[in-house]
Amino acid sequence: MKPGLRTKLASLLILAQASWVYPWFVASHIQLTGQAVRMVAGLLPEFFRQGEKTISHTSQDPDILTEVFTRALVTREKPDHYFDSEYLKGETLPLTRYEYYRLLHRKGLDPQVVGCLPYAIWEWTEKLTGAFAQFRRWPESKEIQTKCLLYAGILAHYVQDGCMPLHVTLHYDGQMKDGLSPRTGLHQKMDGLFQLVRLDTEKIAAGLKVKPSVDLYNLVLQKLKESQSLVEEVYRLETELMAEEKSSRVISLAEKCYQNALSFTATVFLTAWESSARARIPDWVEP
Ligand SMILES: [Zn+2]
Repeated sequence: MKPGLRTKLASLLILAQASWVYPWFVASHIQLTGQAVRMVAGLLPEFFRQGEKTISHTSQDPDILTEVFTRALVTREKPDHYFDSEYLKGETLPLTRYEYYRLLHRKGLDPQVVGCLPYAIWEWTEKLTGAFAQFRRWPESKEIQTKCLLYAGILAHYVQDGCMPLHVTLHYDGQMKDGLSPRTGLHQKMDGLFQLVRLDTEKIAAGLKVKPSVDLYNLVLQKLKESQSLVEEVYRLETELMAEEKSSRVISLAEKCYQNALSFTATVFLTAWESSARARIPDWVEP
């Protein structure tokens, strides 16, 4: 099938999609986010640790935005939850969203088909950095503290979506044929992976070391690549996942995904905090 036609068909499909866009069930987002907050306790200000519930609660919001509001918002929001990098064929990603849109346009690709997840992560990390910078100047401001907690929750969502392997491949729900997903239901099985197997999450967290990144651009690309490297394993285990079989290989896959999501979330929290020390607040900002 011609790429143009494939893109059009995929666009139509995307508009019809309602359920597969969920990455992990929201319970998993809430759990991962809370645990990431506890991992950076002591490295970030105390209000952040105390705001764990608010951050965790907010981490489900990007999925709510794709479901309960108007078409304008749903259409804008959905592509920020996935990135089917195969369409780019190794092309270097531009630094900004609109340059990316122009690149896709030149290649005859649609942002709604390819997805914009890396940009959501870069942008929300920068938003959290800006909020932390304001906190550094006005540490007593409850309004600024609240803003930090909300931004952190939204950022955590996109980061964790990137660690669901089927959110970073065009084979998002069964192996794609003729430009269309067979919609096998595998995506939903993967969404529930952390509910299928009971992981020792405290042990996983204890085994991870968090350090800030000085190169956010490459951090995000590297983490998404790590996630994409698990796609093959997901398809090797397709039968077991569809049967909800808790084999040792399924447990090992779940552990890897959980570890990636937890480590990535804690890393971007810490990266935003460290970067905020160098961020400039305009003179006209009020506390
Ligand atoms: Zn999502």
